[in-house]
Amino acid sequence: MTAPNIETIVSLAKRRGFVFPASEIYGGLGSSWDYGSLGVELANNIKKSWWRWLVHERDDIEGLDSSIIQNRQVWKYSGHETTFSDPLVDCRSCKGRFRLDKLQDVTCPKEPSANAGSGKECDLTEAREFNLMFRTTVGAVSSDEDESALAYLRPETAQGIFINFANVLNTSRRKLPFGIAQIGKAFRNEVTPGNFIFRTREFEQMEMEYFCRPEDAPTIHQEFIDAFQEWFYSLGISAANLKLYEQSKAELAHYAERTVDILYRFFPERDDEEKQFDELMGIANRTDYDLRVHSKKPEDAEGKRINPDSTEDLSYFDEATKQRFYPYVIEPAVGVNRTLLAVLMDAYTEKTNDKNETRVILKLKPELAPIKVAVLPLAKNKPEIVALAKDLKKQLLPSMRTVYDDTGGIGKLYARQDEIGTPFCVTVDHESLEDNAVTVRDRDTWEQERVNLLELKEHLQKRLS
Ligand code: ATP
Repeated sequence: MTAPNIETIVSLAKRRGFVFPASEIYGGLGSSWDYGSLGVELANNIKKSWWRWLVHERDDIEGLDSSIIQNRQVWKYSGHETTFSDPLVDCRSCKGRFRLDKLQDVTCPKEPSANAGSGKECDLTEAREFNLMFRTTVGAVSSDEDESALAYLRPETAQGIFINFANVLNTSRRKLPFGIAQIGKAFRNEVTPGNFIFRTREFEQMEMEYFCRPEDAPTIHQEFIDAFQEWFYSLGISAANLKLYEQSKAELAHYAERTVDILYRFFPERDDEEKQFDELMGIANRTDYDLRVHSKKPEDAEGKRINPDSTEDLSYFDEATKQRFYPYVIEPAVGVNRTLLAVLMDAYTEKTNDKNETRVILKLKPELAPIKVAVLPLAKNKPEIVALAKDLKKQLLPSMRTVYDDTGGIGKLYARQDEIGTPFCVTVDHESLEDNAVTVRDRDTWEQERVNLLELKEHLQKRLS
């Protein structure tokens, strides 16, 4: 069983310290969230998995960490200044403001309209375009209106990769095809953020731009669509909750030739099965658009896309064919936060114990679990037991994230570790002092096994891998 709805996860996340509402003591700030001690570990583990899989395990991808604030020209030539907008409508009766293409996701904030999406009581204005980029100024300027100091917080990490294409190519001596991967924050002044961490104004992306010959792009695109589904399965997300969505010609971004979204069942409570799914990631064939627009030379015959501000030509010279061209780009773009939400929803399980009480178990893959092992002393007033438990924690820590916890009775401690997804608890009891063994308890089955201390580390490592 997966989580019945996002609200279940919001409550668990707050109760156990995964995610808190941001600025909560001042009343919050429109769908901003802070990640607590377990949330930051889970997010880090997701990012580590992505980075290891793409940058370390493959031989054709380089890493990058570019600036959040770039020269404004980046966003002028990428097209974001003119086209990175959503259609905005106002409701004349309730005064709510909504994104036209996401009306079904919002509830009207005020009476008399019951639901903006129903369209029944809403009296909507004509749609107008609202640019989503956050504006800021750079340096000590006299006024916030000073256009020459205008800059933006990046709305995607991708452009930082395109503008570094020549730097990476020249320093890594790569040949096509190869990719550049980056993880980092992105900012969008979303019209209607909401649904917990699904849509926020500040979020984190894991993006990879894979540069290839134009004729190879369709095949490589399909390979990444397949590979990313497998990656989500490896994170413990079940196939039944994932779905592919092929964007129609009308939906495609102006630069894209083909885009396939991977959707997750974020809204299982909705009656209409189709509406249960929403975007987890997008995988686009961005053609050669970005490298062309950031290049100093016009390339097409009509002299279109002239860029007088760039100092670099981002074309590629193929030694084998002696041809110069702009590579095509395949872009798999994943949100860290949406992945974290999907992972939590899919891992959420309820189980009844022998006292007929319902317990929550977070069946996280060991690779993602914030804590791998909790060492618990059965009697915290017995110094020898406490000393042995603390010593075990120290011994295991270099190989697996281990915590020591003596803040409650053993039943409570087990329940807490189940709820935060810790795969194994190790209990030190009176007998341990005599038989040199401890009890290893499995999160998912609640089965207990006696394991000798000399074999403990290897035993846990085997079961965690
Ligand atoms: P949507 O249609 O939901 O607005 P998008 O198609 O604009 O998303 P992309 O530009 O393709 O999103 O960004 C890639 C990924 O970044 C998305 O699939 C999603 O996981 C994540 N993402 C985008 N916008 C947000 C947001 N406001 N909050 C959280 N994650 C986001």
